Amino acid sequence: MKRVVAILGLLAACAEPPPPHGIVLVSIDTLRADHTSPYGAPMAATPTLSRLAAEGTLFERTFSQSNETLFSHASLFTSQLPSDLGRVDYDLTIPDGTPTVASALSDAGWTTGGIVAGGHLARVFGLDDGFQTYVEGQRWGTFQETEPMAARWLDDVAAGDDPFFLFLHSYDCHAPYTKPHVFGRLSTPGYDGFMLDRVHDSITYEKIYNGALYPDLPLSQLVNDRGQRILTPEVHAQLAQHAADPASRRLTLSKDDIAFLKGLYASAALYADLWLQVLLDDLAERNLLDTTTIVVVSDHGEGLLDHGYFNHRDSLHDSATQVPFIVWRPGASEKGVRQREVTRLLDVSPTILGLASIDIPETMQGVDLSTCLDGGSCNTPGTAYSEAVLEMTSVTDGVMRMTVTGAPAHTHAMTTRIQKPAPAFATVWDAGGAPGTEQAMSLLELDPVVLGRLQAGALQARRAGGAR
Ligand SMILES: [Zn+2]
Repeated sequence: MKRVVAILGLLAACAEPPPPHGIVLVSIDTLRADHTSPYGAPMAATPTLSRLAAEGTLFERTFSQSNETLFSHASLFTSQLPSDLGRVDYDLTIPDGTPTVASALSDAGWTTGGIVAGGHLARVFGLDDGFQTYVEGQRWGTFQETEPMAARWLDDVAAGDDPFFLFLHSYDCHAPYTKPHVFGRLSTPGYDGFMLDRVHDSITYEKIYNGALYPDLPLSQLVNDRGQRILTPEVHAQLAQHAADPASRRLTLSKDDIAFLKGLYASAALYADLWLQVLLDDLAERNLLDTTTIVVVSDHGEGLLDHGYFNHRDSLHDSATQVPFIVWRPGASEKGVRQREVTRLLDVSPTILGLASIDIPETMQGVDLSTCLDGGSCNTPGTAYSEAVLEMTSVTDGVMRMTVTGAPAHTHAMTTRIQKPAPAFATVWDAGGAPGTEQAMSLLELDPVVLGRLQAGALQARRAGGAR
């Protein structure tokens, strides 16, 4: 009898764990990795993320494939580069019939729900493909609104037997970083400067460059073909030009002003983190937490004057592209796993499908990381490729980053032999330190081995979609 028990035990140890009953993907919009506790911020910055990382698996170097909400989420859902879905501009949408993580799960019999905070995730942009339920909160809204909506959706899910997939999103860390009550002033409660009132207008952040506010800058806007009023992609170039004009009015921000603005962002991160805990509590109350896998990401980071701007659209630096990526599984055999390999938001959907034991559509370009959640090699390409408006593209190996402007012609050049003189459209950044401390260097100074790795990464990424 002992022998039978031993054999059964062995079989159980070798067997694949059963798929979870539920998978929840949370996107905390605009949350840069290094402003969360498990990625180096103080423990009190985001305690819930710390706990999920301590009990789960954290990917230390995950990069988004774009620096804007719309393109990044379209890429996240489809595991394709934004440019493989359409022109990287504010009228991009997921083409009909493109497999998404939600459509693959829905086809396999899962109940799927997306609860989003509007803005660039509005249904009008087509990101609702595959979701049986897709609920939009107010434009640019908060978990304060979307989490309770998700809880109501979970009530229905808990009443049934089908496995479920929930996508939950909020803009809590997006400008303006003004949160209710005490949360807005946690870091700098004594600040009494001139930015106090101005920060409620998100446009204020668009008018800050290199530590100065330019109140007379006329920001150009356009209405895209979906009727959305948006800033033109050229806004940041205009801002730099405006700042260089001696006739421009400028209000120099003091150290206290800047500390206040950065403090608001930190407060916003904590606020979002606390709502994440509310979500976990709501899952537990419905007896769902013990059988649900939680995946937390952000769609991009945020420049906090690291490179002149408060925003994420202006660059593809680590500050704008390095994001948290944490997977928490109930009863995971290994806890506190930290994977160092370069991973991408492209890998999230294949990983979710891997966890659900569902075939990954051929169109998906990412890697299924479900096989390395307990440790071991993830077999990733080792580089991450990103695309932005303003014809910016970039590739990083987690230490060095090459960014080019003027794609697609220049992106082609990015992957070919670099000759003297170094092309003006390409910049190399040494990102060996923390995000925001990258040092620019000449392309010709770059170690040829590193250059070869970046070029191969860019080429592999471009070829994966069969494009260009
Ligand atoms: Zn976003």
